[in-house]
Amino acid sequence: AKSQTRGSCSFYSEDMKRGEMQRLALETHLRHALPRNELALHYQPQVHIASGRTVGVEALLRWSHPELGMVSPATFIPVAEESALILPIGQWILETACRQARSWQDDGLPPIRVSVNISGLQLKQPHFVDLMEQTLRRTGLGPEWLELELTETIMMENTEDNIRTLYQLKALGVHLSMDDFGTGYSSLSYLKRFPIDKLKIDRSFVRDLMTDPDDGAIAETIIAMAHGLGLEVIAEGVETADQLEFLQARHCDKCQGYFFSKPLPAAEIPAFLSRSLPG
Ligand code: C2E
Ligand code: CA
Ligand code: CA
Ligand code: CA
Repeated sequence: AKSQTRGSCSFYSEDMKRGEMQRLALETHLRHALPRNELALHYQPQVHIASGRTVGVEALLRWSHPELGMVSPATFIPVAEESALILPIGQWILETACRQARSWQDDGLPPIRVSVNISGLQLKQPHFVDLMEQTLRRTGLGPEWLELELTETIMMENTEDNIRTLYQLKALGVHLSMDDFGTGYSSLSYLKRFPIDKLKIDRSFVRDLMTDPDDGAIAETIIAMAHGLGLEVIAEGVETADQLEFLQARHCDKCQGYFFSKPLPAAEIPAFLSRSLPG
């Protein structure tokens, strides 16, 4: 019995060691990703339901490593956050997305807003607002064409400082969206203290919209509450016509998901926009 215990104990720690080594290896690879040009942004269309128009795109990070292949952001973003690599990578994302949006405008494409996911570590940088302002100036993108997506969880941390930063960002003229809404612990009374423009209904509620009455009720409630507070609302992860119909009937403003398009390389966005012009 004794050896069994020791055995399972050492097995457990071997497992942990392996996990830690994988994390470290990933971190080492990730450290080279930016200088070696392994990172790219893909852009997922966001559709205004009533008009059918694509009015925005969300920038989503892609990492293609020569040996590991495509690594999912769900795997490497946490590593980037723990190692603070998300700071230089996040700045590159902002810069690239803003420059891309400006370049689409210069090409005469119908105007679309670009949404960028911001990590909590980025938001906490004392000079984040200055960095933001410089990035907009350098890339020539009008602030009204940039939206920052911050998760509910990030907004609830460090709240007083965050509220101040959010007001400064709003003052720059950028739009603010609360991502993954409904999955965190935000108290509703906080919602009115954040100068946000939009709530983003988390994919987990959209997935079973048609089969789980609870999820339907949650989505419906979020939409009504957002509108009651004067906020826009967008649903993510819309995959079927049924889901779209449900959301449309409840006056959800915008939708994003595989039903319209997967995240696309920048070069495919112009063709998508001309294909999806209504009428
Ligand atoms: P998120 O911000 O909630 O992004 C939405 C995720 O849902 C994306 O996964 C997107 O590809 C996926 N998705 C979109 N439509 C559908 C759909 O209809 N069905 C399903 N099943 N999935 C859909 P992705 O690109 O793998 O990103 C995962 C997460 O990684 C993101 O979740 C975000 O938290 C993080 N992430 C991605 N790019 C960035 C970035 O540039 N910066 C930061 N800080 N985080 C990022
Ligand atoms: Ca997002
Ligand atoms: Ca989300
Ligand atoms: Ca989500």
